[in-house]
Amino acid sequence: MNLAVIGSGGREHALVKKLADSSKVSQVYALPGNIGTKEIAINIDVNISDFDAVLDVCKTNKIEWVIVGPEDPLANGIADFLTQHDIKVFGPKQKEAQMESSKDFTKQLMQKYNIPTATFRTFTEKDDAKAYIMSQGAPIVLKQDGLAAGKGVIVAQTLDEALTGLDALKPSLNNPLVIEDFLTGEEFSLMILVNGEYFHAFEMIAQDHKRAFDGDTGPNTGGMGVYAPVSHISEHTRKKAIDTIVEPVTQAMVQEGLDYFGVLYLGAIVNDAGDVNVIEFNARFGDPEAQILLEMMDSDLFELIEKTYNKEPFKIDWKDGYQVGVMLASQGYPGSYKIGKPVDYSVVQADSFVSGLTEIEDKTVTSGGRVLLVTAHGEDMKTAQEKAYNNVNKVKFNGSDLFYRKDIGNRALKK
Ligand code: ATP
Repeated sequence: MNLAVIGSGGREHALVKKLADSSKVSQVYALPGNIGTKEIAINIDVNISDFDAVLDVCKTNKIEWVIVGPEDPLANGIADFLTQHDIKVFGPKQKEAQMESSKDFTKQLMQKYNIPTATFRTFTEKDDAKAYIMSQGAPIVLKQDGLAAGKGVIVAQTLDEALTGLDALKPSLNNPLVIEDFLTGEEFSLMILVNGEYFHAFEMIAQDHKRAFDGDTGPNTGGMGVYAPVSHISEHTRKKAIDTIVEPVTQAMVQEGLDYFGVLYLGAIVNDAGDVNVIEFNARFGDPEAQILLEMMDSDLFELIEKTYNKEPFKIDWKDGYQVGVMLASQGYPGSYKIGKPVDYSVVQADSFVSGLTEIEDKTVTSGGRVLLVTAHGEDMKTAQEKAYNNVNKVKFNGSDLFYRKDIGNRALKK
């Protein structure tokens, strides 16, 4: 059976690697993939926004299943289009992808079904938003309604920051702004395989590091590093997230006439009292969470996808130990940055996932903000962290062109 993975980042590199291991998969195609996937799969350079072109590739290569990595094609209806043409797609249709593509949609759903999340209001007029901010005070969180690759959220600690944020995010009818209460606690990411009312939550959670700089400072990014499992967040908390969030939200979706098939990503936060709240949902695997969780997974991912499709129960096997990933990013990211900088990661290729690297005339150079997730496995968290940073040190780059956080996993070691 031939299968295709849509996307070109580190998450897709991880999906390709994992799916290529499946005994049921003969050939994996990466559309368009990257220099990491080309070692494992056949890369086909196709514009993934051109659904007809994607369908053409699927037909020509007898691709039966398409696994969609990123959110944009899902929000634009790639699953609707390909399933209409008899291709099986792992990833929700456009209506269901609103769980990620519209924060207002999802907040309304949670409010209606009493799913715990920060109190919020949505604004399309700047003056109204400003009045609300003034009445609520800081800290407060501003979120653009639509997709923004992790960059449409401003966590304002002061009123000044909130008002500057409001100027930047400019609410309008076409660009609503969700304003919500600031929540404190430990964040974690939980991946759930969902098909309608049927779901299976991963037994292992992960912790991303969203802020650009050490000590969780600086602007929000797509994710600067990750580890799993997260031992200081208890199994009790994971179960509570399932009972109070995952189960009710899958039922709520069904009630609302949504038929969700794919991964639902829950970004949650647990406070000192043990309350678990939703920060966000995404309609796909997390990046960089996928890179780490799929390394820790011993089961055949394609089999899990098939079983989810058939709504059959299953068990997921996980490796012992810990996996840590450190993201190397271009200087300036998540703001503006230069590309085309040489990077030599050949020594740690087996432990790395390519986010933004390309080849120009036999040289590997940067092509994006997030560049490479360098990972390692260890029997305990400290060993995994040390090995990951050892691997980072083996990557050759001009130090001033890339940066990375030095504290990935420290939260777990402090607890
Ligand atoms: P991504 O695209 O990276 O998944 P996003 O743009 O959809 O992110 P959120 O996940 O909603 O945005 O928010 C980004 C980060 O901002 C969160 O991981 C969290 O650290 C912080 N954040 C969001 N909402 C809140 C809140 N209500 N209280 C405190 N922090 C928050």
